[in-house]
Amino acid sequence: MVLSQLKLQNFRNISSLSMRADPKVNVIFGDNAQGKTNLLESVFFLSCVKSLHAKKEAELVKFCESDAMILANILSHRRDFEIRINLSATKKRQIFVNSIKQNKLLDYVGLVQTVLFSPSDLNLMRSGPSARRRFVNIALSQLKPKYLQVLSQYQKVLDEKNKLLKQAEIPDMLLDVYNERLAVLGASVISYRAAFLENLATHAKTIHGEMSQTKEDFTAVYQTDRYAEPLIGDEKAVSEAIYRHFCERKIVEIDSRICLVGPHRDDLDCLINGSSVRQFASQGQTRTAVLALKLAERNLFFEAMGEYPILLLDDVLSELDSKRQDFVLNQITNGQVFITSCDPSAEKLSRSGKIFTMKQGILSE
Ligand code: ATP
Ligand code: MG
Repeated sequence: MVLSQLKLQNFRNISSLSMRADPKVNVIFGDNAQGKTNLLESVFFLSCVKSLHAKKEAELVKFCESDAMILANILSHRRDFEIRINLSATKKRQIFVNSIKQNKLLDYVGLVQTVLFSPSDLNLMRSGPSARRRFVNIALSQLKPKYLQVLSQYQKVLDEKNKLLKQAEIPDMLLDVYNERLAVLGASVISYRAAFLENLATHAKTIHGEMSQTKEDFTAVYQTDRYAEPLIGDEKAVSEAIYRHFCERKIVEIDSRICLVGPHRDDLDCLINGSSVRQFASQGQTRTAVLALKLAERNLFFEAMGEYPILLLDDVLSELDSKRQDFVLNQITNGQVFITSCDPSAEKLSRSGKIFTMKQGILSE
């Protein structure tokens, strides 16, 4: 998938922009606060119809203006799409594909696919398991819509069970009904995640090896709080193991008034040379590990869809040594990538594609 042309009007600090993008590498340099992230955000918005940070879409419209526009030409599976998104400070957004208004967001989402690395993704390694579960849930939901269905059903039953556990009187039979249902749905969630993560980890290991020039060995392993690990692959056995756990910990769950077992507490354990990334990795190692996971996610998209999603790398180069920067700038040769940076030394390292400069919301090539 390639974004060939991007036009913006009144998008954040960018009054007017017209960009003919390179089908491979696009590097956008500029000082702090010039509009580099804003540019990437506009492309991200095309794919997810979600802002990176803003709570309200109106925040995307340039201060003191009433409307903004994102216009993009996308080439996907040898077909051209012109996508126009009109944003307003007061009204609901409108999306047009080849001039046809899109009334259902669900029909539109998926047309443009992006994989984004933003500095806040470093939390994937630095914070607790919920950030990693979120990453897995979002990536897997895009690749397997059925997973999203199963996960929503699981979440719904989990919410009901937690509500029950907070009641003064807890009918044992009803708790058992929830436990049985949760065990079955939980085993299905685990089965999807385990297969996805095995594939993701294989790709991430190879990519990480290339970035670190095989000095470091990266592994990512799915962790199920030990209750079902040896059984992964056999959904029925996992379901029985979860149910057994529910029975063994019934009293503890009733005492703590919350469901303590299940995939809503699982984690993705990331290690470099056998040591936990979260506890021991340096800043550059943490960045490399997150990037390896993101690039692996991109490969899985390719396997599933037959083309690479657009890769958006926001401020990825800082903290990386010149060899790792060279990898990012010159070795990602398949698919299209947009890289922002405020490090002028990286300009010298870039050997292919187009180089742009962003200054006060104005882009020049
Ligand atoms: P850095 O290198 O520090 O990450 P950047 O080039 O990525 O900088 P951006 O995050 O793109 O910078 O932001 C550029 C500027 O856009 C900021 O100063 C911000 O205040 C401004 N800005 C954000 N939203 C709006 C808006 N709706 N209208 C006008 N300006 C905005
Ligand atoms: Mg930025």
